[in-house]
Amino acid sequence: MKIDHSQLDPAVSSVRELNAPDSLLKRIGQKIGRSTDTKHTGGSKMAARDALRMIGSLEDSDLGFFWITDEHGNLTYISKSAEDAFGRPLDEIEGSSLSNLFSSQTSGENQQHSLPFILTKQRKFIELPFKAEIDKDDVWWELSGIPQFDENDAFVGFFGIGEDISEQRSAEDEENRLIHFDSLTGLSNRASMSKTLESTLASFRQQKRACALMQVDLDRFKLINDTLGHPAGDTLLKHVSERLMRIVSGNGEVARIGGDEFQILLPDWDDRGNLSDMANAIISSISQPYTVEGSRCVIGASVGIAISPFDGRTPDDLIRSADMSLYAAKGAGRGRFSFFSEKLLETVNERKVLEDDLRDALKKGEVILNYQPLVKSENDKVSCFEALMRWKHSERGFISPEIFIPIAEETKLVLELGAWAIQQACEDATKWPGKVRVAVNVSPIQFADSRLPQVVSKALKDTGLDPDRLELEITESVFLEETSETEDMFAALKKLGVRLALDDFGTGYSSLSYLQNAPFDKIKIDQSFVRGSSEPGSRNGAIIAAIVALADALDMDTTAEGIEAHDELEWIKSLNVSQIQGYIYSKPIPHEDVLNQFKKGEWAIEPVGPALQRADRMSIFRKVRLIFGDNCEPCVVRNLSKTGALIEGLMCLPKGTKLVVDLGDGQLAVATVRRSDDNQMGVEFEQRLISDGFGGLCTRRRVSPYLMAAAGLPMAN
Ligand code: C2E
Ligand code: MG
Ligand code: MG
Repeated sequence: MKIDHSQLDPAVSSVRELNAPDSLLKRIGQKIGRSTDTKHTGGSKMAARDALRMIGSLEDSDLGFFWITDEHGNLTYISKSAEDAFGRPLDEIEGSSLSNLFSSQTSGENQQHSLPFILTKQRKFIELPFKAEIDKDDVWWELSGIPQFDENDAFVGFFGIGEDISEQRSAEDEENRLIHFDSLTGLSNRASMSKTLESTLASFRQQKRACALMQVDLDRFKLINDTLGHPAGDTLLKHVSERLMRIVSGNGEVARIGGDEFQILLPDWDDRGNLSDMANAIISSISQPYTVEGSRCVIGASVGIAISPFDGRTPDDLIRSADMSLYAAKGAGRGRFSFFSEKLLETVNERKVLEDDLRDALKKGEVILNYQPLVKSENDKVSCFEALMRWKHSERGFISPEIFIPIAEETKLVLELGAWAIQQACEDATKWPGKVRVAVNVSPIQFADSRLPQVVSKALKDTGLDPDRLELEITESVFLEETSETEDMFAALKKLGVRLALDDFGTGYSSLSYLQNAPFDKIKIDQSFVRGSSEPGSRNGAIIAAIVALADALDMDTTAEGIEAHDELEWIKSLNVSQIQGYIYSKPIPHEDVLNQFKKGEWAIEPVGPALQRADRMSIFRKVRLIFGDNCEPCVVRNLSKTGALIEGLMCLPKGTKLVVDLGDGQLAVATVRRSDDNQMGVEFEQRLISDGFGGLCTRRRVSPYLMAAAGLPMAN
C-alpha cells in the first residue's frame, strides 16, 4: 500500500513515499498498539498519522535514520538523511543490502556475528555498533532492528533505526586507550600488561607452555631528565620504546610499567640462547646515542630475565624473579642482562654484607694494588704496569674488583679507594726504572667528581713522579653525559701533564668520535673485542686494524688487552698494536715481584700460553648429578666450558659413554665421555652452553618442572 501524501499533515510531508512490502502505517500502528486495518475507524488512521509525523520530525532532527529491509536484507526504505550520512545517493542505497553500507561486517568488539547473519536470524537486535568508512573516516553506526512478519507469520524483513555514535565511540576509544596504553609511548601500560601476564600464564599453565618475562631498566635516564629537562626525557622514552618495539617485533608485548622501566612478555620463549641474543640486541640498541632537542645523549639498559614455569608459575613469582635478575644485572655493573637463578638470591644477600665490610677494608689494610705488565709488541719489553685493585677479605679471601668496584661505585666509596690507588700507584712507580709508566683505573664516579685533578696533582707532588709516567684509564661511560664538565675535566687533567687512556674500547657503543673530542694518548682494545677476532667470519680483526691506523694517525698508542694464547698474539702483532697486555705475558703480580724483576735490569717477558685460544673455560666447584643408564650419581664439576666439563668423584666411565649432566634447576646437558682416568672424566656436551650474562654458563633450555616431576625428579622452584 502506498501512502497518500495528500492525506498527510504538512509536518510529515518529508516522509517519503513508502514502497514497503507491508504498510508502514500498519506496522507503526502495531508498534503503538493500535490496528491500522482499513476496516477500522479513522482513530487508528489518526494514530498512524501521528506516528508518521513523529518519524518525520525525528528524521528531520538528524538524530538518526529509519530503515526497512525485505526478507533478503535489502533496503526498501531508508531516511533521506542517510544520503548525507553515507555519502551516497538514495537510489544507490535503496535496493542494495543493508550490510553493504558497513565496511566491517561484524558487530563492534563482540565480533560474534556478522550483520548478514544477524539479519537472517530474524530476531530483534538492539544497539549493535557497526563501522562504515566514509571519505576515509571511520563512522560508527548503532543499529537496532525488529523483525516483521505478515499475517501468515512469514518473515518479511526488518524495521529499524540507526544512530551515528562516532563521537561517543571515539571518546570511549580514547578512554580505553588511556586505560590500556601508556599515553606517552603508546605501549601497553602496567595494568594492561599485568592482565595479559595473568591470562597468558593461566592458559599456559594448562597447556604446559613456557613464557619469558624481561624487565628492562634504563641506566642513567634520571640524569638526562635532570640535566636536559622532562620534555627531553619524554622524547628519549619515545625513542627507547620505538627501539624496543623494533627488536621485539611480533614476538611479544612491550609495556612501559614505570618512569624508565619496561616489561616484555615473550610467549613460548624459553631458549636462553635466543633470549640472551634478544637481551644483547636490546642493550646495544638502547645504548646507541640519541639526538634529543639538539643535544646528543647516551643512556644504557640493564635486563633481567625470568622464564615461566621454571622461575615462577604465577605472575607475582615471575615478576619477582625477573626483578631480582634485573637487580643483579644492575649490581654487576649495568649494561648487562641476567637470567634468574637460585644463585642470585645468595648473591643479593652477599652483596649487602660486602657493602658493609668494604667501608672498613681500606683502613684495615685489606686493599692492595697488583700490577700487570704491558709490553711493547715489537720487543716484548715491559713499558707500563696497570695497577689493579685487590681486596683480601678477612673471611672470604680475595674478592674480584668486578664484584667490589660496582659496590664501591654505588656507595661512592670508590672516591676514597680511587684516591688511595692513585697515591699508592704513584709512590710505587717512583721505585721503577726510568720511563716505565703506571696506569691507574679511574671510575666514572671519580671522573665526575670535581676534586679529581686535586687528588692527582697531590699524588704527583707528594711522590715526585713525572706526570708523563702516570696514565689514567677512563672508560667510555664518562661520555654518556657529554656535559661541559666532561670537557673541563679532560682539560684540567691534561693540564697536569698526565696521560689519558680510553679503557675497554669495544665493550660499549665504541664511538670513534670520542677520539676526536677527547685528548687521549692511548686506546685499550678490550679482550672481548680481541677474543675470536682471528676466527674466520669475524669482522673484529678488520675493525681493530682500522682503529690502529686511526690511532697512529692521531699519534696515539694502542694496547690489546687480554691476550692469552699464541694464535691471538700472532694475530694481534700482525695488526701493529703498539702494546700488549695479557696472561700470555703475565697475570697481575704483587709489587714485590715487580721490584724483584727490575733488580735484574730491564724486563722483557717471553710469552707463555696455550697455542690456541679455547672456548671460555671456568674453574669451578659445582655439585652436579650424572645420569647414565638407570643410575643417578652425585659428583663435582671442576672445570666448565661452553663445550664440555671436567668431572670428578665417580668411578670413571669408559670413553664414548653417553650421559646426562644435571646442572640443577632443570638444566640437563647431554654429553659424551671423551677422556677418562682414575677419578676425572672429560665430557663433551652435545649442545654448547651459553653465557648466563653473569660470568657463568647455562644450558639453552631447561626441562620443564612438570616433566621433572613426572620423571620423579625434584621440581625446581
Ligand atoms: P680493566 O681495567 O679492563 O683491567 C683489565 C682486567 O683484565 C683485569 O682484571 C686483568 O686482570 C684482566 N686481564 C688481563 N689480562 C687478561 C687475560 O689475558 N685474560 C683474562 N681473562 N683477563 C685478563 P681485574 O684485575 O679483575 O679487574 C677488572 C676490572 O676492575 C678492571 O678492568 C677495572 O675496570 C676494574 N678495576 C680494577 N682495579 C681498579 C681500580 O683500582 N679502580 C677502578 N676504578 N677500577 C678498577
Ligand atoms: Mg683498565
Ligand atoms: Mg680494560
